[in-house]
Amino acid sequence: MRYSSRDIKKRIERFKRKTIIDRPTPIFSLDRISRDLNGPHIFIKREDLSGLALGGNKSRKLEYIIQDAIATQSDVIITWGSVQSNWCLQTAAAARKCGIKPILLLLKTHDTPEEMDGNFLLDFILDADIRLMDAEKGRVVKADDVKGILEEISNQVLERGHKVYIAPIGGSMMGFSMKTPLGAVAYIDAYLELKKQMESKNRDIDTIILASGSGSTQAGLLAGAKLCGDKTKIMGISVSEEKESFTREIRTISEEVVKCLGCEVDFTKKDIIVSDDYIGQGYGVLNKKVSEAIKLTAVSEGIFIDPVYTGKAMAALIDLIEKGNFNREGNILFLHTGGVPALFPYKKEIKQFLSEK
Ligand SMILES: *Cc1c(COP(=O)(O)O)cnc(C)c1O
Repeated sequence: MRYSSRDIKKRIERFKRKTIIDRPTPIFSLDRISRDLNGPHIFIKREDLSGLALGGNKSRKLEYIIQDAIATQSDVIITWGSVQSNWCLQTAAAARKCGIKPILLLLKTHDTPEEMDGNFLLDFILDADIRLMDAEKGRVVKADDVKGILEEISNQVLERGHKVYIAPIGGSMMGFSMKTPLGAVAYIDAYLELKKQMESKNRDIDTIILASGSGSTQAGLLAGAKLCGDKTKIMGISVSEEKESFTREIRTISEEVVKCLGCEVDFTKKDIIVSDDYIGQGYGVLNKKVSEAIKLTAVSEGIFIDPVYTGKAMAALIDLIEKGNFNREGNILFLHTGGVPALFPYKKEIKQFLSEK
């Protein structure tokens, strides 16, 4: 079935949200990169200019998730991620804005710098209660790995008389205190927003390309496109997960979000486009191609992208254009999902890769 934007909007409005971001986030045309790559026309949607903390895709999801925490009278929110997690920073900032205390379980690897930098510094400034835990390099920690310790922290806080909301990583997969895929709900709304913006430019988008990590940004955009009956492809560049298991996760979130809006849509295998060709040495591990993509975007357009997510997605886009994967007459929308504070802790690697000949 297909649904009108108005109908979808109405169904989304059944989920309450706290106003945190400034919408719509702007869309710009990347004329110089498009010309230099001699490929399709590239547009960029600046989710990094969302207006919360230093911006990013997690603020949109947190409008719903923080509201869910407020609705359950929670005064403490707990979540987890890497030391440079954008999700953790955005959660801490959204929580503070709503008078909720953030507790962050941050996973560090053997080579995480001791220095307080990037998002870690910003978490500190937000006075988040930071708990550090050791983890393996190059891999995202899953719910099952931290379940025990999250419950332990939660029990300590409960004993002190607080009400706790545990938010799943990235606000993606249902679990802990989040019973519905609220992150994906937010990105169905984002799809309607960008569809309207592109219509006013008289452009059909052939493909939306984005960095995909916990999956609900991609799942929400995909659900949005399918609900509208649009042919726009949603291409996720995985930054950590291998293709097959990640495709299943995105499918689960997409199906669940459509269900919770009371809609019916069939997702086929072809709908869920995931590439795991650009992960390189693993989650959060920078390489030369990514450093060059960061530099190209800055030098051509005056826009900074990040080393963990958007840099990998841009490196993928450049590579796919060079391989002739897109129609030259087509339009591509690159989703800038944020993450720029992480440039600073990667200073050594960036300098090294960009000075090599
Ligand atoms: C979390 C994140 C993503 C991925 O979004 P998911 O919904 O987790 O897949 C992409 N880019 C940045 C900068 C992020 O922080």
